[in-house]
Formats: sequence, C-alpha cells, structure tokens
Amino acid sequence: MKMLFKFGLFIASVLFYVQAHAVTSCTITNTNVWNNGYVLEFTVKNNGSTPINNWGLTLNFIEPAQVTGSWNAITAGGSTTTLTASNVAWNGTLAAGQTTSFGIQGNHDGSFIVPTCSGGDVAAIDVVSISVTNAQGESAVKGDAIRLNIIVVNNGSTSVSATLTPKISSSRFSDFSNVNLPSATITLAASEQRQISVDAGPFIHDTVTGKHYALGSSTYTIDSIGINGVADTSFSGSSFTIATSNAVLVPVLYDQAYLNSINYQGSIQQYLTSAFTRPSEVFTPANTYESFGGGLDEIENIKHILYPLAGFTASPDTGFCEQATAAARTKLGLAQDWVGPVSTNAENHGFDYLIGLTPEIGGGATCGWLGVQVSGIFWEGQPLDLTQAIFIHEVGHIFGADHCDPLNGYVMCGTEDHPHYINDGIFVWHYSSVDEMENRFD
Ligand SMILES: [Zn+2]
Repeated sequence: MKMLFKFGLFIASVLFYVQAHAVTSCTITNTNVWNNGYVLEFTVKNNGSTPINNWGLTLNFIEPAQVTGSWNAITAGGSTTTLTASNVAWNGTLAAGQTTSFGIQGNHDGSFIVPTCSGGDVAAIDVVSISVTNAQGESAVKGDAIRLNIIVVNNGSTSVSATLTPKISSSRFSDFSNVNLPSATITLAASEQRQISVDAGPFIHDTVTGKHYALGSSTYTIDSIGINGVADTSFSGSSFTIATSNAVLVPVLYDQAYLNSINYQGSIQQYLTSAFTRPSEVFTPANTYESFGGGLDEIENIKHILYPLAGFTASPDTGFCEQATAAARTKLGLAQDWVGPVSTNAENHGFDYLIGLTPEIGGGATCGWLGVQVSGIFWEGQPLDLTQAIFIHEVGHIFGADHCDPLNGYVMCGTEDHPHYINDGIFVWHYSSVDEMENRFD
C-alpha cells in the first residue's frame, strides 16, 4: 500500500508537469525509408485539458535531416540535426485530446536512423511592437516599398517556428480592409525576443482575395499579425502614414502579343520605363527648345511606378476603353469597374490611372473620363519608336495635354513630321500641351 501511494504521487507530479510545460506530444506514425530517401509522418496530440491554438515540436536527428519537403506543418532547421515543426493555419487549434498529423520527406546518406520527436509547449509567440519605415529606415512616402519591423517574443520554454502574416487597412480607399501583406517565417529559441522585417508594396497582391492594391499616400493600420493563422491584435505601433510624393502608381494590363508584334526583346517593365524617360523637348513660346533628358516624367515632375499584369486580350468589336476597365476589374479584383475622374480614386484600390496595351487597336485611345488609356500599334513590325510615341501621346492626354496644337509640336499628331523627332528620335511637346501634375495623384 505504501509503495502504491508513492507511485500515485509520482504520476500526479508528472501530469502536473505535462500540463504546465509540455502540452503536446508527438509520435511517429509512419516511416518509409529507401536507398537515399525517407518519408516520416507524425501525429501531434493536445494532452492538455484546454484547447490550444498553435503548437511546436522538436525532431532530433543523428545526422543532418536534409529535409526536402513537408506538409501540414511549417518546418525550420531542415539542414541541421534539430528540426522544428509548427502548425500551419488550419491545424493549429486542437481541442483537449485532439490529434492532427503532418509529414516530412528528405534525403539521407544510406544509413537512416529514425529521429526522436518530442512535444513541446503551446507555442507562445507574441508580437510586442511594430514600426513601419521604408527600406532605408526612413519615413515612407508614396511609391516606397514599406518595411514592417516586427518585434516578436517566444514566451514558451521550447524553440518554436511561426509564420507571421500582417494584415493592413486604410480608410482612404474603399475595400481596403484586412489586406494580407507578405508572410515571414521565424524560429525563436525559448524566451528569445527578436526583430523580423517584412517588406511589402508599393503593390500588393492579396492572394487570399485575389485583389491587387497600391500603397498610396494615406494613414494605415496594421490590424493584426497572424501567428500561424491565429490573429494577434495587441501590440504597439500599429498605425503609420505614407506621405505624399511625386510618384504615380499605375497598373498596366498588357498582351504579350503587343511586344511580339513590334519584336521587342526586353521586358514589359523596360519597355514602359524607357517610354516615360526617353529624351524629350518642349517647344517654347520663344520658339526655342527646352530639353528634358528624363522624358515625360521629368516634364511633369513625376515618377511613374508601373505594375504590369499580363493577359489583356482585346477584341476590335467592342470599345477598347470598356474592355480595359472590365479587364481591370477582373485582373485587379476591383469591386466595380474603373471609375474616374483622373485622380487617385477610392474605388481604384490606390492605383492612379490605368494603361492597357493591345495589338488589336490601331493607334490609341484615351478614356479621359475614366483615367484609362489603351495603346496599340498601327501595323505589324512597327518600330519601337512609333509604339512608344503612341503610348506617350495617350498618357499625355491623361495628364491633360491637347491632342494637337497649331504648331504640330505635340508629338505624334498624325503627321509625325517634327524634325527633331525624325532626325533625332526626340519626342517634342508644345508648351501649351505640357500640363502640370498639380498633385492630382497624391
Ligand atoms: Zn491624341
């Protein structure tokens, strides 16, 4: 009787220990080893008496694990002998007594020894604070990629990995709420606190909703940081501002056939950037030429930041403006068709105006009431020069430039006969066609 009593006490103290420090247990449920490869499957169990929202485990190998893949878990340390595994978003929550499973696969040197797997704490990663800057550590302005500096701490007593997914909102734009920013994965030792950086923007593709956004000037809030899918909402520094600048954020829907038709070998980004920055001149009232080595962007004192999205195929049977707006709705995930006037619009997810490129249209069209332009080509094999002239001509209309002026100074007014263009390839704008940006895209 005395012995049994002692034994009972021993069990009780172990149970207490399990509940306080090692809530989860881990067992290897399937082992498949061949010449130089292996697959292992594991079962995780919540041994506690209350539900948990995330978990972390440690696998100890004799030789480096050489992990090549995993499923249903986030792993870290796969090239070493100590591998950590944590839940993914959907299998972190385990009721008391509930199990879930995950697996890994890897390579070995021919003599594989099955690792040991030990349970751990409820993963206890907590976001302490956030600060948001640009990549240089300065206050962000429109057009910058932002950098979230997130300080996280592991309050648990074992190493744990977590995927952090920030969500962002801004009341400046409609339908800009709880937008997913890129994720980052971190592994923290017991009690470790560390800063992790996440870069995002100026364009964001929320893969969960399929929507695309541009981070314009506004006040923003980091609503939450998902920790393996469970939202942490209490931390300091969640609000920040992106200041105005001369950047213009433009999505470009394009058809690769457009570039093929003009035999352009570079990237769409190169094509667009060179169109905006090729040397230009302004024909002044004094009958002189003022040079702008930085092209239209320099004339307007702006910087185009372009977001090309492939797959815009237009049909000559319907209006190109309508097709471009409809394509934008689909490709960008807008809640409604593109709407004007030409300015940063709440309905446009932070984008300023829209460009469509398709070989189907002869020349170009500007839908000024929408802030949309569609550029095409006149014939197959048209030189780069002429397609860029059309392109810039249409963008000029977005900025308020007239179609033509009496002196034929505005480049590509149907005649293309300006000597500076013919002889030197320089785009020439008439003074009256140069419209000030006047911060309309702030
Ligand atoms: Zn025109």
